[in-house]
Amino acid sequence: MALKKTYCHNHADRPAIGVCVITGQAICEECSTRYEGVNYSHEGLRILQARRNARNTIRWWPDRTVLIAGILLTPLWMILIYFGLQTLMFSMGLWSG
Ligand SMILES: [Zn+2]
Repeated sequence: MALKKTYCHNHADRPAIGVCVITGQAICEECSTRYEGVNYSHEGLRILQARRNARNTIRWWPDRTVLIAGILLTPLWMILIYFGLQTLMFSMGLWSG
């Protein structure tokens, strides 16, 4: 593969140092932001931020719902475990009461 000299998407006179992983645009040193080991253009970073915000908004609900349901169901589980153990011990002749 022949190495073709690419120029920055925003600066036609500057050689590109990388490609944004989000937009796929060639970017120069100034336009590139290295984040989590990969290159992002300014636009790419904005898209990444928007995607993460959207994902966090969706994820907030199940987490909170599961937590509340867990708290509400804890006494129920304790009762079930208590009666379960009582029945088991009674059947084994270990429960005197
Ligand atoms: Zn540039």
